[in-house]
Amino acid sequence: MEKQAFILENAMKQVVDSLVQKNGEEQRDRITRGVSQVASFWKETDGTGDEFAAYCRNNYISDKDQLDKVFQRISTNMEVILGYFNKISADLQRPLHLDMGDILSVDESFGSYSPVTHFKDDFFNNKIAFLIALNFPHYSLEEKTRLSSSWSRKDWAYARLGDLFDSRIPSEVNQQVVNSLTKSDMYIADYNVFAGELLNNAGKTLFPPDMKLLSHWNIRDEIKSNYGNAEGLEKQRLLYEVMKRIITQEIPSQVINSPVYTWNPVTNKVFDDRNEIVATPEPSVRYAMILDYFHAQQKVDPYYQGLNTYLLRSFEKDMEVPLADLENLFTTYLSSPEMGKIAGVIRNRLGRDLEPFDIWYDGFKTRTSIPAETLDKVTRKKYPNPEAVQQDLPNILVKLGFNRDKALSIASKVQVDPARGSGHAWGAETREQKSLLRTRISADGMDYKGYNIAVHEFGHNVEQTISLHNVDYYLLHGVPNTAFTETLAFLFQKNDLALLGITGNNAMQEYYNNLDNAWGLYEIMGVSLVDIGIWKWLYANPGANPESLKEAVNNIAKDIWNRYYAPVLGMKDQPILAIYSHMVNSPLYLPNYAYGHIIEFQLTDYLKDKDFASEVERMYSLGRLTPQQWMKDAVGSSISVQPIINTINDALLKIVETH
Ligand SMILES: [Zn+2]
Repeated sequence: MEKQAFILENAMKQVVDSLVQKNGEEQRDRITRGVSQVASFWKETDGTGDEFAAYCRNNYISDKDQLDKVFQRISTNMEVILGYFNKISADLQRPLHLDMGDILSVDESFGSYSPVTHFKDDFFNNKIAFLIALNFPHYSLEEKTRLSSSWSRKDWAYARLGDLFDSRIPSEVNQQVVNSLTKSDMYIADYNVFAGELLNNAGKTLFPPDMKLLSHWNIRDEIKSNYGNAEGLEKQRLLYEVMKRIITQEIPSQVINSPVYTWNPVTNKVFDDRNEIVATPEPSVRYAMILDYFHAQQKVDPYYQGLNTYLLRSFEKDMEVPLADLENLFTTYLSSPEMGKIAGVIRNRLGRDLEPFDIWYDGFKTRTSIPAETLDKVTRKKYPNPEAVQQDLPNILVKLGFNRDKALSIASKVQVDPARGSGHAWGAETREQKSLLRTRISADGMDYKGYNIAVHEFGHNVEQTISLHNVDYYLLHGVPNTAFTETLAFLFQKNDLALLGITGNNAMQEYYNNLDNAWGLYEIMGVSLVDIGIWKWLYANPGANPESLKEAVNNIAKDIWNRYYAPVLGMKDQPILAIYSHMVNSPLYLPNYAYGHIIEFQLTDYLKDKDFASEVERMYSLGRLTPQQWMKDAVGSSISVQPIINTINDALLKIVETH
């Protein structure tokens, strides 16, 4: 597992010294940074030690103007390469995504072809990656954060160029990571529980005979959908027993993805017709999957200087937030007194003490009281075909406050296509392409559901267009992470009825929706902390086996519960936060959701009393800074949970007043 450096420390120092001698002491830092990064990537197959030294001496650019010229050329060429790679993928997937007749089996093969796969290898082989590492070196998150106050926009763009080549991982190591994820994906995709076969203690079934629930999503959603009906509570309790059996892996393997037997999850007994059979528990497969991924990531560890754990890479590199900062945001929110106040409202509405699964309380959501058929009629008439949607895009933007010229300019860079599925927004990666609004329109026009989604996706297209065309450097285009684009998409979507000329019919809707979002954030932060806790434990216990990991995960989940949930919901030692399937098939992705919601809340709160169009244009022209820097430049303050807490207090005040 040890990775041996081919270029030794001493050889590297000699190259640095000779370059400093030639170019001056004031360039020492830049030279050291560049040469050490080239050295860390250089392998025997790239050339001898002497060839490494010669490469650095011949390719180091000391003159500022020359450096800038090279930067501009690389930037132009990267826009060509990344832009057309993106167009190739989008075009090859047209038969899969667009409403254009039968899908041929060859379409699937073309659709899964990825032109970007060999990009990094090719650019190390042709040595352009070395040229970039030497002259536009990579900076760590800590360095970006520390230096960015003195950085110009161009310095930022140089740093983002350096991020393109921050590692050189052998393809067999990458392949092992992919294989591990593929295995756990398949495991999760087939992890169904047949609710129709679940028995209560009286031996009765409670659910429709054919009901099949994918863990954890469908089980959770079934719990949500059982608020407000008489038999709901018993069903919810039974489903929670199922979840606990999955987490502890006491679930009988006979009932996973199979409707053959009936099962009482409370007693954990399995029946063939009415006779009990011997139940064999699932042998900790859930935890073996996580462990397998840990082992795959351990192989990646030595290829990142300073980011030698999956935890560090997930936070410092992918999310660009230090883990300690993130945990601080989460625990501030989780331990705020407002959580107890929301719980109090839920308790009143349910008329009973809370239970662990009430972290999924679903009763705050309010929907429009206008019948679906009425709305369908309006949207079908307005949007009979994709052309009608295309033509109306500038009007939508004008209604949202953009001036006509700006509206026409943005809309001209968005292409509407009829989608097979519910649709999506596919952003361009070169200014020569349009971003794609793929939307569902049937033969009799666009129904309201399709329209509602299309308005959301159009919000993404607007972000994609501004953050590509208005950002001053191509290498800075985009946004720091998906939360920043989701915010705009949701703000568009929220206005869907107003855009049709239908005015809101429930003044309280906004307040209840805010409480719903706040309660959802409370839940997702807890599961995120469990995910983080698992990975901290793995690195502290690298010799773990599936059994010891299982025990650890159960303890971590109960510990987080006891700290932040037991005081609010009332009962101790519940493992419920460990049920999320993401922990198995996309480890450490969950914190992105929680962090994203904080960002969305804060941006939405900031925009609510501002000139929407001009602020959106200003903010989304900032480009891909770190999330923290973007937020500071956009709204003038750091990322914080305070706006959410204020929103909760506003909502609680209004809701109490009207009772
Ligand atoms: Zn979206």
